[in-house]
Amino acid sequence: MSMEPSATEGLMVLVHPPWAPGEGGTDRPGGGWAKTAEGVDMLERLRQNLRKDHGSTEAMEKLVKGFLKFRGEVFGKKRDLFTRLSQKQEPRALFITCSDSRVDPTLMTQTEPGELFILRNAGNMVPPYGSMQGGSTATIEFAMAILKVPHIIVCGHTDCGVMKALLQPEDVHDLPALKEWVGQAETTRRLMREHYIDLEGNDRLVKTTQENVRAQLDHLRTHPSVALQLRKGTVDLHGWVYSIPTGDIWVYDFESEQFTPLLDETLPRLKVAS
Ligand SMILES: [Zn+2]
Repeated sequence: MSMEPSATEGLMVLVHPPWAPGEGGTDRPGGGWAKTAEGVDMLERLRQNLRKDHGSTEAMEKLVKGFLKFRGEVFGKKRDLFTRLSQKQEPRALFITCSDSRVDPTLMTQTEPGELFILRNAGNMVPPYGSMQGGSTATIEFAMAILKVPHIIVCGHTDCGVMKALLQPEDVHDLPALKEWVGQAETTRRLMREHYIDLEGNDRLVKTTQENVRAQLDHLRTHPSVALQLRKGTVDLHGWVYSIPTGDIWVYDFESEQFTPLLDETLPRLKVAS
């Protein structure tokens, strides 16, 4: 085993930062920390370690520099918020969306830390209750039973790789975990095959994404914690599809059973699931 420090050890610096209580101050307004000897030293060590272990530093450097900027320039401006959040959270919604890097829930809803309880996975899936007692199910249960979030949003998106895999299962033939995971959208796959034979290309992909959101809303209702809150009228369900190229959101209208653009004027008439 090598005695050289690993990239992980380099990152351990972040776990025990110099601004921790009792270790040299609590804040450095103006983003100065990255430019201090400690900051420069840490970046250099990270750079060397990553170069040694992975041969690429650029991606990780971007993230570390981003963190240093956050700690130096952003955190202090939101100190009251973070102090409040250090005691408890009261998120406005459980936001279930795809892991896709192009989907940014807080950016698209312009929310602050503490406002969205986010569950992300490949294809914004909701396992039907009992089928898979994993992290997704536990997250939903916690959001409902403990946090009692008043809204659940299932948000799909355009150009979703998981939806493509659903339409072309042969593409994930060598990815057994993903293949099994995508099986949760089997209803959608069959629906597309039987009812939307004429749709092609992007139209087919978008319709698949919309139908998948509807299917996952149905799965949500199988969770006892969700069913209970629905019965009590304390939670509303929402289905969204986000368009990456236009920034638009289509929202599912439970009354017309259609997706419609999310606009100020459409909001009041959108019925929620009950
Ligand atoms: Zn996706």
